[in-house]
Amino acid sequence: MRDIMRMSEDDAYERFKLLRWPETKGEPICPDCGSRDHYALADRRKWMCKKNSCRLQYSVTSKTILASRKLLFRDLIGAIAIFVNGVMGVAACRMIREMGLSYKTAFVLQHKFRESMAIDYDEILDGTVEVDGAFIGTRRHRFPNKRIEGEKEFDEFLKKHPKKQSSLVVVRERPHTDPTRVARVRTVHVENEGAGIPFARQVVKRGVEMHADFGLQWEPLNLYYDMKRINHSESYSDGIACTNFAESFFSRLRCAERGVYRNFTKSYAGRYGWELAWREENSRVSNSRQLDMLISSLMRSPRSSMAGYWQRHKTLAFFNT
Ligand SMILES: [Zn+2]
Repeated sequence: MRDIMRMSEDDAYERFKLLRWPETKGEPICPDCGSRDHYALADRRKWMCKKNSCRLQYSVTSKTILASRKLLFRDLIGAIAIFVNGVMGVAACRMIREMGLSYKTAFVLQHKFRESMAIDYDEILDGTVEVDGAFIGTRRHRFPNKRIEGEKEFDEFLKKHPKKQSSLVVVRERPHTDPTRVARVRTVHVENEGAGIPFARQVVKRGVEMHADFGLQWEPLNLYYDMKRINHSESYSDGIACTNFAESFFSRLRCAERGVYRNFTKSYAGRYGWELAWREENSRVSNSRQLDMLISSLMRSPRSSMAGYWQRHKTLAFFNT
């Protein structure tokens, strides 16, 4: 962090260039046609493609999730550093205080970070895999504020405060025998655990050994994988099956929920899942390496669904989403 705080705007800019175009050691490549020939424009951080049919004007963040950025590169790296240094996540409010950002900027920026953390979800997991799910989201008001007499009134109360829970399903590789391989963690946010099965099938190689608990919702996986099941009402590991790696992801999730984010709004729960899976997967990677990894993912991520977020939602109160 000390190195980051001492960084000049030029240093920060060079770091972005290097991570965007590692193959040319930071020399610009046209994002449209892939040509390396360019004119440097008078605005010294922009280029124009030399190819006659293209002539695109671009900068280091063009066509990435950080396009139309307004922050200085230094501030951007500072924000990314704060974000990766928070082991259990970083609340937007903390970023506001530490970086002097507005709430909007911090909110959108963090969601872009989360989005880019899921950029490698098309990779296929193999080895030994564990799958499990957990409830997520706002819990129902279990107890009314004032005493309710009679069952009928209580039913009415429950109707007025419906259950808002949904599930986060995690699919996690066990550590590989080859120590250079990262054990990957993937999550998906679904209405109920059973709805996570298509995702599991999509991201896990067919036929591998998969561990799950006794929940009936996992039954269909028997068709595609070598299933090992553990009955959690008896034990958490019987020497054959266990889902402790999946459980340890959920313990991080719960810490983040209780200690940092307070609650995961349903519309964004999936994104928090991506973030915490990334943190779990890279928990043994040094912070400076994590910083480079996140910048490089951002540079590889296409324009975001969060782009123009506040323009579109101007009339919508955030807390209703
Ligand atoms: Zn071009």
